[in-house]
Amino acid sequence: MSILVVGTVAFDHIKTPFGERENILAGAATYFSISASYFTDVSIVGVVGEDFTAEHEEVFNKHGVDITNLERKAGGRTFRWAGEYGYDFNTRTTLDTQLNVFADFKPVVPESKKNTPYLFLGNAHPSLQRDVQAQSNAKLVAMDTMDFWIHGTPSELRETLKNIDLLIINDEEARQLAEDSNVIRSAKKIMAMGPKRLIVKRGEYGATLFGEDSFFAMPGYPQENVVDPTGAGDTFAGGVMGYLSATGGGFDEDSLRKAMIYGSVMASFNIESFGSDRLSQLTKEEINDRYRQFKKITYFDATEHEF
Ligand code: AMP
Repeated sequence: MSILVVGTVAFDHIKTPFGERENILAGAATYFSISASYFTDVSIVGVVGEDFTAEHEEVFNKHGVDITNLERKAGGRTFRWAGEYGYDFNTRTTLDTQLNVFADFKPVVPESKKNTPYLFLGNAHPSLQRDVQAQSNAKLVAMDTMDFWIHGTPSELRETLKNIDLLIINDEEARQLAEDSNVIRSAKKIMAMGPKRLIVKRGEYGATLFGEDSFFAMPGYPQENVVDPTGAGDTFAGGVMGYLSATGGGFDEDSLRKAMIYGSVMASFNIESFGSDRLSQLTKEEINDRYRQFKKITYFDATEHEF
């Protein structure tokens, strides 16, 4: 089954304590779609400017990502973002956000994509996310957001959250959204806002899945080689939705847990390089190999040796 994603296709400027790179083809929809493309068919609804060239198109074409609904704005400039990471990569500061062509983007879901069963509302203005959801008949709708929207457009965000199946955010965003210092309490408050399920990402420390009566926690992949964590969240979401879509999985606990492991596997590759360089060059074997490593590092025999 296929996935429709709406979100930014962007050019990023990234500074880390160990290196710096400009004009990286990035953005939520880019990372998400490349990641999910290993599992299933993906189409993007988004907008770019004249600075998006045939060379950039090729990155999507190589993965069979459908960009027919990626609007090209004549005379426009693509969304741009600049960010800087601290020494341990756990803190990130936004240096600059230029919405450019994204500022007055009115997304249109074409007739042929309205019945796409899985919809991912990538990081974007919450009203835009809601507008896309209103045009879609998807059976499973997931979304992301970030501090820029949590603080900038709080009431619009509350409205959008009301009809979401799965919200995927990080721990800092969860605390900000719930206005609570404790992540567990925050999760409960956020689910009361609408989402049926919540995944809270914790960077190198893994991720947690919250349901009404369920809780699942997984560690991060033991990764020694971190170059640029940008896009890890979207890559994670691409793996989660990709796996659910490939297996026809829905909201059962078992599918979601496995989907999270695949999400983490994809994210663990993405952070090994700037942009999507590493993510773009994976094989199914490499992906499944890391999935199996997750099985090993999380296994313990819970039935024996209790004292
Ligand atoms: P992540 O690291 O997964 O949180 O996502 C990083 C990507 O989000 C970058 O490639 C940025 O281009 C994009 N981004 C940054 N700020 C925003 C924003 N306010 N709205 C949408 N996308 C954004």
